[in-house]
Amino acid sequence: MTTRIDQPFTAADLSGLRSACTGPVLTPDQPGYADEVATWNLSVRLRPAVVVGAAGPDDVVAAVRWATERGLAIGVNATGHGAVPNADGALLVSTRRMTSVRVDPVLGTATVAAGARMRDVTAAAAPYGLAPVQGSTGSAGAVGYTLGGGLGVMSRTFGLAVDHVTTIDVVTLDGRLRTVDADHDADLFWALRGGRGNFGVVTSYRTMLQRLSTFYGGGLFFDGADAGEVLHRYRAWIADHSDRTSSSVALLRLPPDPRLPEPIRGRFVAHLRMAHVGEPEEGSRLAGAMRASAPVLLETLGRLPTTALDAVHLDPVDPMPTHERGLLLDDLAAGVVEAVLARAGGAVEHPLVVTDLRNLGGAIARPPERPSAVPGRDAAALLFTLAPAVPPLAEAGPRAVQALFDAVEPWRSTSTLPSFLGRSFRPADVQGAWPQASLDRLLAVKGAWDPANQLRVGHALLGADDVG
Ligand SMILES: Cc1cc2nc3c(=O)[nH]c(=O)nc-3n(C[C@H](O)[C@H](O)[C@H](O)COP(=O)(O)OP(=O)(O)OC[C@H]3O[C@@H](n4cnc5c(N)ncnc54)[C@H](O)[C@@H]3O)c2cc1C
Repeated sequence: MTTRIDQPFTAADLSGLRSACTGPVLTPDQPGYADEVATWNLSVRLRPAVVVGAAGPDDVVAAVRWATERGLAIGVNATGHGAVPNADGALLVSTRRMTSVRVDPVLGTATVAAGARMRDVTAAAAPYGLAPVQGSTGSAGAVGYTLGGGLGVMSRTFGLAVDHVTTIDVVTLDGRLRTVDADHDADLFWALRGGRGNFGVVTSYRTMLQRLSTFYGGGLFFDGADAGEVLHRYRAWIADHSDRTSSSVALLRLPPDPRLPEPIRGRFVAHLRMAHVGEPEEGSRLAGAMRASAPVLLETLGRLPTTALDAVHLDPVDPMPTHERGLLLDDLAAGVVEAVLARAGGAVEHPLVVTDLRNLGGAIARPPERPSAVPGRDAAALLFTLAPAVPPLAEAGPRAVQALFDAVEPWRSTSTLPSFLGRSFRPADVQGAWPQASLDRLLAVKGAWDPANQLRVGHALLGADDVG
């Protein structure tokens, strides 16, 4: 006799899936389930009906076929940096066992499995003098980060990470593993690069790497009380930068973490971040104008190996409960700086622990060789915020983010980089990331490849009641 276990499938159904998979297949009542659904963002709980800890592409194929036969929603958990709480009752594919990265030093490419983190790609490429376009934290999952756009620390020089993707291996809803590229299922290849998990479960992708071993970078830390001088100077400073210099400036409220250097530990600081592809002397000269903007608490600028990229932004590494969101700006106007100072500056105690303004343009704004669905390439800047989602700040955080976003509304771009949608996951918000023509094209591809809208976990284009 089969036992119904509080799910839209039976124990016998499950044992069929188990025998088709090498990795574990777990339901909420089983040990190991909590680890598979765990997310970097501790404020998000994923509660799928079943999670498949995929050991490889065959497990993904088995999981997708099984879920499709039962009409279940399907989602992916890699690191949970971009997790949103809409996996209830779904089948979740956990990719964390699929971590291989194969570098071809002759072709200058990497083939990256679905569960690898960006830092794994950076580390595998470095011995060959190669590097991917890594973002501010190497802890982000390579697929989620890259297919969401992949705004790298050096993107003004090298473009977005997504621009360098040449092929994607993806399991589509018909249960087939396909390799898509600019010549094979070109519509799907276009949509996956920007639309991420809305079109299939990616098992790996191949990317071109950059020839790069070291760069001049790091940061300058200033007291938060000097934020006005630093942010206004920053605006003027970036005006004539070449594409070889990428940078951002952030207001940070740092924890009293003993791993942080003493001069900035537990302090409210303004942080200039810089990555210059060129000679250290030239980079240091460039940084001079920012050094002069206010007394420097700590300088970490110098020649760095690509494997030290995380040191530029100093993003939080350990899992934490966060409410994070980003938006694009058409102009890094004086009014934006004033809004940031008014809404995120001042008080040492404040729910916004990270308020980051990143200078875009350069190679980001140039049309890529392989066009993709990533919107917003012509934006001037990104505003990214992160607030702890813990009492007593849990409610103050989203309010503070909204107040800041309202204040910069006059300069807000009509597009959003999908990677930075953060906690905005209502289909209307997700759709709002794209200009209408791109959205229409994405929805047409969605209708063709996922007509029943099963891929509706994460930043889904369509809600449970919508038809693809
Ligand atoms: C502290 C911090 C710093 C960040 N810095 C940057 C940055 O510098 N640049 C930048 O561009 N972004 C940045 N991000 C955003 C980050 O890139 C996104 O949150 C991204 O979605 C993380 O991917 P993940 O796989 O780690 O997360 P997950 O939560 O595991 O996955 C997020 C989504 O990615 C999709 N996805 C993941 N794997 C697959 C797969 N195999 N097949 C299909 N879909 C898949 C799914 O839609 C999934 O819901 C940052 C985020 C944080 C929290």
